[in-house]
Amino acid sequence: MEHASPSPGTSKLSLCFYTFSAFVLGLGSVWAPVTGMDIVQGLLRAAFIFIMLWFFLNWLPRRTTLPIQVFVAMILGVLAGWLLTKLVGRAFVIEYLGIFGKLFILLLTFVILPLIFVSVLNGTAGIGDPKRLGTVGFKSLLYYFCTTGLAVLLGLFLVNMVRPGEGRKSLRKEVEAQATRERQATGAEDEDNSDKLSLGLRLQNQVLPAVIHNPIMADQNPLVVIFFAILLGCALAALGKDGLPALEVFKSLDKAFITIILWVMRLAPVGFFALMARTISELGIAYMVTLAKYFGTVMLGLGLHFCLLTCVVCPLLGGVSPRRFLRAMAPAIQLAFSTSSSSATLPMSLTCATKRLGADPNISNFMLPVGATVNMDGTALYLTVASLFIAQVYGISLSFQEQFMVFLTAVLASIGTAGIPGASIGLMSIVLASASIPVEGIAIVIGVDRLLDMTRTIVNVTGDCVGVVVVCRSEGYRIAPS
Ligand code: ASP
Repeated sequence: MEHASPSPGTSKLSLCFYTFSAFVLGLGSVWAPVTGMDIVQGLLRAAFIFIMLWFFLNWLPRRTTLPIQVFVAMILGVLAGWLLTKLVGRAFVIEYLGIFGKLFILLLTFVILPLIFVSVLNGTAGIGDPKRLGTVGFKSLLYYFCTTGLAVLLGLFLVNMVRPGEGRKSLRKEVEAQATRERQATGAEDEDNSDKLSLGLRLQNQVLPAVIHNPIMADQNPLVVIFFAILLGCALAALGKDGLPALEVFKSLDKAFITIILWVMRLAPVGFFALMARTISELGIAYMVTLAKYFGTVMLGLGLHFCLLTCVVCPLLGGVSPRRFLRAMAPAIQLAFSTSSSSATLPMSLTCATKRLGADPNISNFMLPVGATVNMDGTALYLTVASLFIAQVYGISLSFQEQFMVFLTAVLASIGTAGIPGASIGLMSIVLASASIPVEGIAIVIGVDRLLDMTRTIVNVTGDCVGVVVVCRSEGYRIAPS
């Protein structure tokens, strides 16, 4: 992805943009100022935003490649999140710095559905032969099912061994009290009351989503889009010569969407910085300590499954060493971590898998968009551990049948989970209900969800990419970087 790195000069236009944003947001964050001190604070905040934009969008990109920029941004984001929360207050980090993270994610997801459509269509038509398509499709589904099943079994095993929720009946009250304190401290209760929303929250929740809204295929279910793309791809391939003009159009559209994503990636350093700062500011150390055992169990499971995929499945079934795989996929893994979104990571996974790793473009184009929608090993593992943890906190012991129901619903829910931040929290109620675990228990785990979401998205994306390697090899394709 090095070629995605920009090398912009400090143009007058960009300086104007930085100054304008800095003043609006810096002064907006102390509005309406009562004392001279408020104005000084606003100006200091404006200076901080100006320096941040100049550093991440000009200084850093001119000196280093994108993966390093992103790495630096993430480290500085953690530091800034922690320091600013102490010095300036959480509201500034969440409501104002958070805008840059929100903007980055909105722009990244802007072309996702059309991109899924054209890349699945191109992949399907590229594979061409219906028999080969059938084999690739069958192998993909088999791989998805086996690895997701394994992830759930690993989760079940760990949560039954570690028993992180046992003897913690008071936890529910502890966590709820903590959540109330947090809400009061950040003024988040005002979020419901749109009249009282700050400028920053208004921009994040109302203005930006209204402007950066994909007009094509908006709000469609990705599975519907994938189905249509496969059907149209098959039909165009069946047309032979007559289908070629349309396929050419879709191929250049594919390139155009990837180009848009590469433009958006210029905002990556500042986006990553803001996302990390916001996460650290939101998390609060108290939650982590309270839920340390649960947090550790999910992390252990995700770590083990990640190692299983990269160190066992990838070399044994895909013939690619873990080192080579991880070097090639590093930008996609970084992006998955900081965006918590498999869908937003998709363009990067496609580029890394085809250009840096050298996988078959047709198989990648077909499998990665489908995988980003239906194959979520990390999510399945997470849902399992979280559900059984909640049951343990409530003192409910689950029979074998109930645990089997958790297995089944976790696999199904992970298929239905959208590749966006926090999506599985919405589906957790289904898994809980399947084993008669109280749904209100979600409140217990929601506090540490963000960091776990970032980590499980890495596992989701890695699972998809290892799948491409495995299927490429089984189809006799030699993986070599281009
Ligand atoms: N954020 C995850 C993803 O995009 C989905 C989830 O588990 O919430 O892969």
